[in-house]
Amino acid sequence: MTEDEFNQIQSLFKSRRSKENLYSLGVKSSVNKLLVCGVCGKGLTIQKNNKVLKGNRDGSFYQIRPCRHEIAEDVKYYNAGSKITFIEKAVIEELKKHKVQLQQDLISLLEADTSGVEEKLSSQLESLKADLAKKERKAKRLLNLYLDEELTKQEYQEMKKETEETISALKSEIDLLEHKLNSLDVSVQIEKVNEVIDLIDNFEEMDLEEQNATLKLLIKHIVYTRTDETDNQPLLEIHWREL
Ligand SMILES: [Zn+2]
Repeated sequence: MTEDEFNQIQSLFKSRRSKENLYSLGVKSSVNKLLVCGVCGKGLTIQKNNKVLKGNRDGSFYQIRPCRHEIAEDVKYYNAGSKITFIEKAVIEELKKHKVQLQQDLISLLEADTSGVEEKLSSQLESLKADLAKKERKAKRLLNLYLDEELTKQEYQEMKKETEETISALKSEIDLLEHKLNSLDVSVQIEKVNEVIDLIDNFEEMDLEEQNATLKLLIKHIVYTRTDETDNQPLLEIHWREL
């Protein structure tokens, strides 16, 4: 999961608290644009089945449009459709299983002991910062020496250039160490996992658009197959995003 996606999750949290701000995007299902055909690999679409019940009652529902794909002449594969509510329920079950996995991840994150490495990096960082402060003081002193005419212009410029190069090298080394320290910080990862668990806990109370946006954050795609090989039962294979 990228930083951007993580920020999206957080804004989703905020939008959940002010639902009136969400306008309808006309999403037909929480799994909109996430389904991929398990036979040919193409994206699957959702269509309305305008079923009319006895007495002219509206029995329409959304379904996965069956995928007919000709692999070669006379070799036709067929992936059957399914009622979308059935798929949505199955995805909710998968979310619940995913949550159990995330809770296990959380336990290992909480147990992870990185204190030794952290200490070493911190002391390196401290000494680099002290070096940097020293060089910055030196750079200031150089200017005074030049103004007091204790250095020639050429000497001043050479020493200034050298000091500036050292300063910029020190700064990039400090950046690198800070980045290393941050990625060691399990608390950031723990926060992400907790937010995702919270999203899953609240999933069923969200509206369709929000559910769809949430699934897109958590899932790359869902491979759907319903053929003779699956005994004509819909089979879902969820590809989760890395956190
Ligand atoms: Zn297909």
